[in-house]
Amino acid sequence: MGGAGGRIRVVKGDITTLAVDAIVNAANESLLGGGGVDGAIHRAAGPGLLAECRGLYGCETGSAKATAGYRLPARWVFHAVGPVWAGGGRGEPGLLASCYRSCLALARDAGARSVAFPAISTGVYGYPIEAAAGIAVREVQGFLGTFPVPETVVFCCFSDRDREIYETLLEKTDAP
Ligand code: ADP
Repeated sequence: MGGAGGRIRVVKGDITTLAVDAIVNAANESLLGGGGVDGAIHRAAGPGLLAECRGLYGCETGSAKATAGYRLPARWVFHAVGPVWAGGGRGEPGLLASCYRSCLALARDAGARSVAFPAISTGVYGYPIEAAAGIAVREVQGFLGTFPVPETVVFCCFSDRDREIYETLLEKTDAP
């Protein structure tokens, strides 16, 4: 349960397996692949994804670009570049919020009815999960409160701890 009239779900698992219209990648500025969820998405999607990414010429931190999903169940991948955590004084919260808004706008404009997010920036990029999840929940709730598409958003967590953090936040912010 939880949030924006039941339009937000939390799952634990591998985002590459989700049958949603779009999944979000936690990419880096090159968009040419990396470790973590980025590596998993490129492995699962196959070489067509990297070929399309080469033609995008990178992406600025705080923004996102769309590609097809190739061998993934998802039709689209939104490649978001989150900030590297540097203590919080270098605009990281605003840049992370901007990633979520950029992906949600891509979903809206493409007509993606369901979109799944990983916990952007909270792996190798070091963003503290509680703070990052708070931004993710706030931005998604704000967007869903304003726009009808996407209809549903999935927070795809890679650990039980992360899942509990999202669930707790959504319970707190649930409308009575
Ligand atoms: P970043 O560089 O933005 O920190 P990472 O890929 O290192 O990106 O980590 C982002 C989050 O994605 C972390 O919570 C990590 O545990 C999670 N993650 C890694 N692989 C997967 C996957 N296959 N599905 C969903 N989440 C994943």
